[in-house]
Amino acid sequence: MPRLIGRPAPQVTSGHYYRVVPDCLFCGIASGQIPATIVLEGKRVIAFRDIDPQAPTHVLVIPRDHFPNVGELAAAGDGLLAELVGTAREIAVTEGIDDTGYRLVFNTGQDGGQTVGHVHAHLLGGRPMTWPPG
Ligand code: AMP
Ligand code: ZN
Repeated sequence: MPRLIGRPAPQVTSGHYYRVVPDCLFCGIASGQIPATIVLEGKRVIAFRDIDPQAPTHVLVIPRDHFPNVGELAAAGDGLLAELVGTAREIAVTEGIDDTGYRLVFNTGQDGGQTVGHVHAHLLGGRPMTWPPG
């Protein structure tokens, strides 16, 4: 079946269609094609440990659907961004960093330092952090 260039190819999993971009690293992790240390798997959201952790807890929380950045995810509506943040909070509790505190970061675009073009929240905690960021 032909694919429209520039549009994500839908992938069906358990009767649900996900927005998937071929060659996207995090779409590959969400679909299980690329290995990762999974922390939590939900129907719409998945979380896994960052391969290059910057704190004792460094987890990436992503929607299974491909959105390029947090702005696009917010614009899509339907509560997915809130679910992502709620999932990060749940993981903070599980990791035991909710009392000591944590940082939730969406690096966005070139100046924001985003290197993977599938929206992801960094959940960082387990050590004190400085401000401003570099
Ligand atoms: P950003 O620079 O904000 O786009 O964050 C991308 C993050 O993805 C970085 O912290 C990387 O260490 C992390 N990362 C890259 N490849 C992998 C991978 N295969 N598994 C887990 N984390 C990854
Ligand atoms: Zn993707």
